[in-house]
Amino acid sequence: MRLDKLMSINGYGSRKQVKRLVQQKKVIIDSQVILNEGYNVEPAIQQVLIAGKELKEPAHVYYMLNKPNGAVSAVRDSTFQTVTDLIKQKDQAAGLFPVGRLDRDTEGLQLLTNNGQLAHQLLQPQKKVMKCYEAIVNEIVTEEDQKIFSEGIIFEGGFICKPAKLIIKGYQEGNSIVEVSITEGQLHQVKKMFLAVGKKVVYLKRISMGPLFLDKKLSIGEYRPLTYTELLSIK
Ligand code: URA
Repeated sequence: MRLDKLMSINGYGSRKQVKRLVQQKKVIIDSQVILNEGYNVEPAIQQVLIAGKELKEPAHVYYMLNKPNGAVSAVRDSTFQTVTDLIKQKDQAAGLFPVGRLDRDTEGLQLLTNNGQLAHQLLQPQKKVMKCYEAIVNEIVTEEDQKIFSEGIIFEGGFICKPAKLIIKGYQEGNSIVEVSITEGQLHQVKKMFLAVGKKVVYLKRISMGPLFLDKKLSIGEYRPLTYTELLSIK
């Protein structure tokens, strides 16, 4: 993490104030005076002294958010509300970022943390973390579609999706209510998979990510810290 970010998170002020401290030679990392506020520091393994006081790595925090339609899966956005804007504990929220992206109009399970290592682990394609979505599709989804999904959809550009599980939950006024499970995270993946069989997703909600399930008690826009058991399940 950048030194100025680490210091800001730990209450040493704005980037500008932090820069001043650095220039005043107040920052010593592993016995060396650091004069570059952009220095890449690893607080878990390096000793960081600021004005003689040892700085410890900030405690990690983990939140499960039921993301509303309209919020972007980002830390900052010049136009739209972000998923981190929804977390009210600003002191704890410092350094918080979303683990993986949902489209702006997708609802449901969004994990947020300040633990970069864990986020990296969960997002690694080799880990094949299963993501399950509830979707409403604007036409009748058929057994043939289920077969195509299970064989691996091919996108227009030639990308071949890994086999996906498609469950038909029911039909309503010409729409289909389905559940889709995928192990990849291509941009707009679920929407593109349905487009590949000539259908359009009109509503999308993530209900699980690996062993983590969206808490049904969370209304749209609500969040809560992960329980200890949930945390152990994803670590
Ligand atoms: N697939 C999509 O199309 N959108 C999402 O937000 C997530 C998966």
